[in-house]
Amino acid sequence: MQRHVTRTMAKFGIFRDTELATDCDECGGRVDLLKGGACVRCRRILCFTHLHGSFVRRLATDLGAETLCVRCRTGSVRTSSDES
Ligand SMILES: [Zn+2]
Ligand SMILES: [Zn+2]
Repeated sequence: MQRHVTRTMAKFGIFRDTELATDCDECGGRVDLLKGGACVRCRRILCFTHLHGSFVRRLATDLGAETLCVRCRTGSVRTSSDES
């Protein structure tokens, strides 16, 4: 009985861990959702480095700026509408 309870709690810990973290679409690294997040344009989940790129940008999004990733801001992501 004691062993069963311990194992259940361990499983719970792993579940919570994966729920709070995901992989960066750019570098495949772990994303801390408190720092990184999703770009509003390309919808990718990105880490702090590839989403904001700098602490100043992070502050800007906190103040209401759109959360655009580094690539979308620099325009290096081609959208399908650009093809025509
Ligand atoms: Zn990244
Ligand atoms: Zn983007």
